[in-house]
Amino acid sequence: MPHEARFAPTYQNAPYWWRGRATGGPDEAPLPHKTDVVVIGSGYTGLHAAIQTARAGRSTLVIDAEQIGWGCSTRNGGQISTSVKPSYDALCKNYGQRMAQDILREGQASLDFTADFIERHSIQCDFKVTGRFHGAHSARQYEKLAKACDTPNPVLTTDAYPVPKSEQHTELATEFYHGGVVFPKHASVDPGRYHAGLVDLARQNGAQLVPQCMAHAISEEAGTYTLSTAKGVIQAQKVIVATNGYSGTLWPFLQRRIIPIGSYIIATEDLPKDLTDRLFPTDRILSDTRKLVYYYRLSPDRKRVLFGGRVSLRETDPRKSAPILHRDLIRIFPELKDVRIAQSWQGTVGYTFDSLAHAGHQGGIYWAGGYCGSGVGMASYLGHMIGRQAAEDPTARTVFAEIPFRGRPYFRGNPWFLSPSILYYRLVDAFG
Ligand SMILES: Cc1cc2nc3c(=O)[nH]c(=O)nc-3n(C[C@H](O)[C@H](O)[C@H](O)COP(=O)(O)OP(=O)(O)OC[C@H]3O[C@@H](n4cnc5c(N)ncnc54)[C@H](O)[C@@H]3O)c2cc1C
Repeated sequence: MPHEARFAPTYQNAPYWWRGRATGGPDEAPLPHKTDVVVIGSGYTGLHAAIQTARAGRSTLVIDAEQIGWGCSTRNGGQISTSVKPSYDALCKNYGQRMAQDILREGQASLDFTADFIERHSIQCDFKVTGRFHGAHSARQYEKLAKACDTPNPVLTTDAYPVPKSEQHTELATEFYHGGVVFPKHASVDPGRYHAGLVDLARQNGAQLVPQCMAHAISEEAGTYTLSTAKGVIQAQKVIVATNGYSGTLWPFLQRRIIPIGSYIIATEDLPKDLTDRLFPTDRILSDTRKLVYYYRLSPDRKRVLFGGRVSLRETDPRKSAPILHRDLIRIFPELKDVRIAQSWQGTVGYTFDSLAHAGHQGGIYWAGGYCGSGVGMASYLGHMIGRQAAEDPTARTVFAEIPFRGRPYFRGNPWFLSPSILYYRLVDAFG
């Protein structure tokens, strides 16, 4: 029987982070017909890139098909990690030891970069180094996590430490997990306020931002790029494609390599302080070892639970995903059985076939993307890198531009294999 969830009278099919968000504003300047750099996409990747090109003195135009910041960058869970999914052993096997170490080092660098950038520019976005509790959904997974903590990492000192089930209550009031591991350096942020800070910085540095301006096609002649867009034609010397999970058919190169996958979140109504303090004794961000991972946290004011994951075999409407997420939430916290849902939303993340982010350029077209659902830090870092590269800074080097970026012959942008993969992962999760 489907799970019945209660919706608040003020319920919205929209991100919690969009409350009170200004729309419109000074974005509506006319579209210039020529610019040094045009950035397609106004999320973290695009804005970080634009800040760098504008700072380097290049006239910079950022366009977005929707409102500025409409994509994942204002929809995410606000959890900042080192953003590299494959293990060191898997990386060594696929890319050799040197590259594996560089990938892990740059994963850490993406987290450090983001923390430092927010601090240096005084961006008011509730950034906090909270640490993460990563729960083990089976005893076997706990053993693996604890063993990994005991194995010296040849590249990084993560300070990660295991928390056995007997001490789990210091992290979370649940019996759901079999212990877990704490990553003390991971951080949380209000993703919407972080994005708003980047918009301000991009403008202060002279970039122009134009919403509702979908790019339809890119062509090149004698080193000059022509973009046809919903608001007219633009010529540019450099193009930065920062469209990630929303890349669509614009550029076949990305269409064949980035897999668009929906991720879903709910926010509860305000909860009593004694309840949130009891269930969440710390400010940590939270996730677990399931293949179909749950990720969750309290809102920065500690009043609401924000709970996300992958809910269904096919993409669905947030109103329909809300009861499924609520059902999963109360598996972890039965006490939240009667709470009402205030917001439910969805965004499309960009996955890759090797579970790694990628960046690079072909002639004057630069790109970064494929953050596999961990892009708050990595999109910031790689956006910054490709911006500097487009501004011809020879020191802007990243290993993510060296990793071979492969598609599959059977893939043209439609992830038809998603439903069977999710069914398979559900089985794997059920067997721990
Ligand atoms: C529900 C959810 C939860 C997440 N939680 C986390 C988390 O907790 N931690 C974490 O690290 N990551 C998380 N992520 C992932 C993270 O949000 C993304 O990796 C990151 O925001 C990507 O930024 P971006 O700038 O590359 O892309 P986006 O922010 O998605 O921006 C791409 C933009 O390109 C525009 N666009 C696309 N095509 C065109 C075109 N042809 N013309 C003009 N504009 C175009 C789109 O309109 C969009 O605004 C989450 C994502 C989702 C959806």
